[in-house]
Amino acid sequence: MGNVYLNGKYLPLEDAKISVLDRGFTFGDGVYEVFLVYQRKIFRLAEHLERLDRSLAGIYMKNPRTNDEWKQILKDLVDDNPADNQSLYLQITRGVSERDHSIALAKEPTIFAMSKVLPQRNLVHGISAITCEDIRWKLCDIKAITLLPSVLLRHRAMQAGATEAILFKGDIVTEGAASNVFIVSNGVVKTPPKDSSILPGITRDLVLELLQREGVPCRETSITREELRSAGEIWITSSTWEIVPVIKLDERPVGDGNPGKVWEKAMEIYQKFKSSPD
Ligand code: PMP
Repeated sequence: MGNVYLNGKYLPLEDAKISVLDRGFTFGDGVYEVFLVYQRKIFRLAEHLERLDRSLAGIYMKNPRTNDEWKQILKDLVDDNPADNQSLYLQITRGVSERDHSIALAKEPTIFAMSKVLPQRNLVHGISAITCEDIRWKLCDIKAITLLPSVLLRHRAMQAGATEAILFKGDIVTEGAASNVFIVSNGVVKTPPKDSSILPGITRDLVLELLQREGVPCRETSITREELRSAGEIWITSSTWEIVPVIKLDERPVGDGNPGKVWEKAMEIYQKFKSSPD
């Protein structure tokens, strides 16, 4: 791995040090983004930077850099990594202050970013998921670093031999522990609408846009437990996972237990777009 970025400097990971009084450490007081890099180009950069700006506003922080400055920081990290395909992590915390809830005490944000080689994934055969109550907070549209509920939910999925947890508020699907959820029901692709109970996924938006361009019927609408259970296809999306078919839900097969035809089409369109984004 090449250098990481910390507060204006590029340095080896082992030399990147911050105070134990950083509010990211004491309060989980910060936000983050994950960007994918394909063939050395940052994918959907503008969309990620826009969401970052909204996340910062959501926690009453001023964006500490302009978009041009963010682009330069991220580009420097990409250039420093010989891999063509990378994953970039950017975290901004409110910075160091005495351990007191008041946000006025923090003077300078802490900015950290790193690049890692994008691991080869092969989830095209599908994954298993479990359903869980959504135990997170009410501002899930903010990409906050405070991820303990998601960590616990993923752990529950792993313990059940599954890969992802699909979450419910009452009878309604919200999203995955770290992904958005889609179903296909009677030929219509459905995903929950964007509100504060889900993260507005960059992949979610792109998948909807690309499918609609191809004339595939799509609806942003609430999905009930029964609709999820009886769906012909279930997919989850994220920048890192792209579009992954869920072939088993709570130990029961989804549809015929294989990745579906609409998923195949969505994947094909997505891969085509990735190789020549416009
Ligand atoms: N929801 C949650 C809770 C997530 O953590 C993620 C992945 N960061 C997503 C959805 C997918 O978002 P994106 O497509 O922007 O990666």
